[in-house]
Amino acid sequence: MSTLISEAAATGRPLGILAALPQELGDLIEAMRAESGVRTVTHGRRDYHVGTVHGTPCVVTLARVGKVAAAVTASALIHAFDVEAIVFTGVAGGVGSDVRVGDIVVASTLLQHDIDASPLFPRFEVPLLGVSRFGVDAALADRLAAACERFVADEGAACAARFGTHEPRVHRGLIVSGDQFVASAAALGALRFALPDALAVEMEGAALAQVCHEYGVPCAVVRTISDTADDHAPASFMSFLTEIAGTYSNAILARFLAVPGSGG
Ligand code: SAH
Repeated sequence: MSTLISEAAATGRPLGILAALPQELGDLIEAMRAESGVRTVTHGRRDYHVGTVHGTPCVVTLARVGKVAAAVTASALIHAFDVEAIVFTGVAGGVGSDVRVGDIVVASTLLQHDIDASPLFPRFEVPLLGVSRFGVDAALADRLAAACERFVADEGAACAARFGTHEPRVHRGLIVSGDQFVASAAALGALRFALPDALAVEMEGAALAQVCHEYGVPCAVVRTISDTADDHAPASFMSFLTEIAGTYSNAILARFLAVPGSGG
């Protein structure tokens, strides 16, 4: 089966891989260095690492935190690096009632929960674009979810035992993004009330999805749940980020990148 990734390998156009924070990339840049060597290009105060990792030509970079950071980085990946598609990997707060720390959420749609130009436009709609829920590339998201399922099947129980978390599950659905770290029962309750189908909250994904929508570039987003967006979120986020996030990212990306054409 032809896939975006195998097409990228065939055409030489790389895949963009984006995260907000270094821990969310795991050892990806080191793996690239060992496999192909890394060419690092500095552009707009960010370093873009170009090379091949797990057999796939990639441009790997850090957006840093927030929607503007994600949007400008996605735009650079598209215009300065001519990427074929973009995948975002990182952590998020769980919002869905059955989404627990250590679970994985692959986005089917993404929405900016803090955009509100009502009553001029419906709440959550991006004014003059007419979109509130941005889609992802279905084939890319399927491949990402398949990689997550393989990771859970191979290593989920061992991970749970090692990190003292629940055995991970993979969810697919709505991820919401905004320029707030959501960390209180009140804020979480408001989000659930306004968007009952939201599975996870983070600060970048929907901005990436908007840029990719506007330029017709395929994208997908995977988030590991670091906290449950409540009063425990700051501590849970920090310990998950420093101790666990890299393990998940390494395991998911290795499976995602290494098997182009396997049909996911
Ligand atoms: N000072 C912190 C900032 C992290 S902000 C640091 O640099 O370590 C939290 C990051 O994790 C964002 O990139 C966001 O996408 C994600 N995230 C995890 N849990 C979140 C939550 N509960 N609310 C919003 N974003 C969350």
